[in-house]
Amino acid sequence: MVEAYLNGKRTYAVQSKEDLLAFIKNKKAILIAMNTEKILREDIRLREIINSNIGYPDGVGAVLAMRRKGIPARKIPGAVFWLEIVKAFHLGKTFYLLGSKSDIINMTVIKLKKEYPGIKILGYRDGYFTDAEYVEIKQDIQQRKPDVIFVALGSPRQEYVMADLIAVHPALYMGLGGSLDLFCGKVKAVPDWWCRYFIWEGLYRALSDMGNIQRWKRQLPAMRIIYKILLGRL
Ligand code: UDP
Repeated sequence: MVEAYLNGKRTYAVQSKEDLLAFIKNKKAILIAMNTEKILREDIRLREIINSNIGYPDGVGAVLAMRRKGIPARKIPGAVFWLEIVKAFHLGKTFYLLGSKSDIINMTVIKLKKEYPGIKILGYRDGYFTDAEYVEIKQDIQQRKPDVIFVALGSPRQEYVMADLIAVHPALYMGLGGSLDLFCGKVKAVPDWWCRYFIWEGLYRALSDMGNIQRWKRQLPAMRIIYKILLGRL
């Protein structure tokens, strides 16, 4: 598949969800949703993880950046695509889910079993664990050997965790961010009109969750770069 480097980070020029499904079918790698935040973030470790795995254009920012390089690509929203993976592979592959709040992960598993009869979920747990508990989670994944592991801890932590897990258990991993909250109806998706006109999806999420300091902090690298562009320093 054609690839482009966006601020030094490899992103595949995916043309359709079918295209991406076929590409990942037998891969043991981490699927990473490329959006404005990840493109702009100056984080060497994250860049290494992206460049040795599969970054796909999850946000409008990634699609536009690719088009500017003359490489056509389609937006594949991760929050929808993880369900395409479930739909396509649930009768052949086994699954494991890690992350989000405990009520959300429980609801997700119930919903998945109802909507995808026959799905084999080998294990799951919420994303609020201690270092000692993480060691147990890692052992559990190594022992159960799921084919597909969804990790919903938010970025970039989920990418660090997936890189650590894939080293001991090669499989298909996908970072979900807040997709499970969306799946369970706890949060609303960023509207298309915002993506089209403002591109910066992280800013919409920060504005709609004003009290969440961590979310604002994650916007800082993007804000710094925009400030530099405005001052003509970039
Ligand atoms: N989360 C978690 N453990 C933590 C912190 C966050 O499991 O210690 C979960 C949180 O419940 C949410 C997800 O990680 O479901 C992060 O969602 P967010 O929308 O912030 O991620 P993004 O899609 O912006 O990367």
